[in-house]
Amino acid sequence: MIIDGKAIATQIREEVKNKVRELTFRTGKNIGLAVVLVGENPASLVYVGQKEKACAEVGITSFKIALPADITQDSLAEKIEELNEDPSVHGILVQLPLPEHLNESAVIEKISPKKDVDGFHPLNIGRLVAGEETFIPCTPQGIIELIERSGFTIEGQEAVVVGRSNIVGKPVALLLLQRHATVTICHTRTRNLGAVTRRADILVVAAGRPRLVKADMVKEGACVIDVGINRVEGKLVGDVDFEEVKKKASVTPVPGGVGPMTVAMLLKNTVFAFEKSLEVS
Ligand code: NDP
Repeated sequence: MIIDGKAIATQIREEVKNKVRELTFRTGKNIGLAVVLVGENPASLVYVGQKEKACAEVGITSFKIALPADITQDSLAEKIEELNEDPSVHGILVQLPLPEHLNESAVIEKISPKKDVDGFHPLNIGRLVAGEETFIPCTPQGIIELIERSGFTIEGQEAVVVGRSNIVGKPVALLLLQRHATVTICHTRTRNLGAVTRRADILVVAAGRPRLVKADMVKEGACVIDVGINRVEGKLVGDVDFEEVKKKASVTPVPGGVGPMTVAMLLKNTVFAFEKSLEVS
């Protein structure tokens, strides 16, 4: 089976759209997302454009804050503080990576944890580790939705995550654990990767290595989520050998798998931020 991330993401966007309509009708308020873009990194420009378009489609107001590449750490912090105080802004996203002279962690820590729709603030990461309700980073949350909405059970299954980054590998492993999978995390020092991945009922690959996972590293009938985005000879390919693996397991394509889910989860997190703002006011 091919796990169609694009179709599932479309369904989620429709659900978000209905919820936005209901919430704005009930409260008389607009839901606002501020997208902060520093400089003109071409990939970031594309991602920001996709996010703005997705917001418009579901009725979320997006505010693009385009700042010069040479902005100082203090000026950027001031801008974020302004957005923290702005009642028309419910979610704040700082598009990464930032230019090298800026300290990314310090910038993320400036975002109010209540508006942290990317779920990267240390307070929200702590809550995620503790299993409390919080903002869940978009890509890991999208991966879980993909698995569940494709009809796979997580509880009791053997799950293997290849990659231990803070934005994908670690949080997705925590989410699988919360849903009662038995989780193993692999990385570059893992011995005999194939022997570990072959045990997986659920295999999540986020290594950033084109076609790292071959068919002989996958269990028959497994659910394989390919997070990787690699450009090889001008073509986008994942971390999984899609053509071979799809013959024996369910797998997400690249593009059209995890990517569309990430944007859909950003919309969901923005609605969550709005709902939380209603609770405190
Ligand atoms: P990082 O480079 O931060 O992390 C990669 C991880 O994979 C590291 O933990 C690394 O191990 C591990 N790894 C690399 N090579 C191997 C190997 N040969 N065997 C075992 N483990 C390996 O990447 P990210 O987590 O940020 O991203 C991973 C991929 O997902 C990228 O291709 C990225 O573009 C894509 N991505 C896609 C998104 C989407 O929306 N679809 C969103 C975010 C990322 P070690 O720690 O030992 O170095």
